[in-house]
Amino acid sequence: MTTNSVRENLLRMQERIAGAAARAGRNADEITLIGVSKTHPANAIREAFEAGVRHFGENRVQEWEGKRTGTEGLAATWHLIGHLQNNKAVRAARLFHSIDSVDDLALAQRLDRARVEVGIPEKLRVLIEVRVAPEETKSGVETREASELAEKIAGLPRLELGGLMCIPPFLEQAEKVRSYFRRLRELRDDLAKTLGLALPVLSMGMSHDFEVAIEEGATEVRVGTALFGTRIAG
Ligand SMILES: *Cc1c(COP(=O)(O)O)cnc(C)c1O
Repeated sequence: MTTNSVRENLLRMQERIAGAAARAGRNADEITLIGVSKTHPANAIREAFEAGVRHFGENRVQEWEGKRTGTEGLAATWHLIGHLQNNKAVRAARLFHSIDSVDDLALAQRLDRARVEVGIPEKLRVLIEVRVAPEETKSGVETREASELAEKIAGLPRLELGGLMCIPPFLEQAEKVRSYFRRLRELRDDLAKTLGLALPVLSMGMSHDFEVAIEEGATEVRVGTALFGTRIAG
């Protein structure tokens, strides 16, 4: 896979996204591909942009800062998908269009204030990261705490709560992850109803399980390896 160009990988991804969408009776246009460029250099991001990718995900503020000059001028949407520490909230609020991994109110409040401090008038999109497998993963809010957090974030004036995100346990057989994706969708449906919020976004699915995620309702899939090739260990 590493020998394929990003363009070739993207074409395969688009076919597989379309196939999964069709199986679920969904329109492939409803699904946004986020190219996860962590560990890959700025020129890989440029290559993906030129091939048609318009959303990118990084998981560290500092790493992304290092790629800024190399990606200048690209009209893309930049997502932070990794855990964010409070003390980096101001930098994140300046550099990203969306923080996809919010799991605590103090951080959301910090981002809300930061958006004023950095002088960006548009709302910052955020997703709540939910811990769908509490026994196996550490990041994310517990499902039973999601409602209270969603309600409070929805009340913050500079943030726009788009929906939910999850990182299920890595299981070799993607089919075994299906129940976690379903859990996230059901939680979203439940919150939307009880809180009267739109919550259109479900960010779920990575290189090895994005098709299952799409079948379960993902609107954003975060794909690294299948698009950019194997990550450089570091
Ligand atoms: C690295 C990462 C991905 C992409 O992983 P792949 O398996 O390479 O597609 C997606 N989401 C998050 C939060 C990540 O950290």
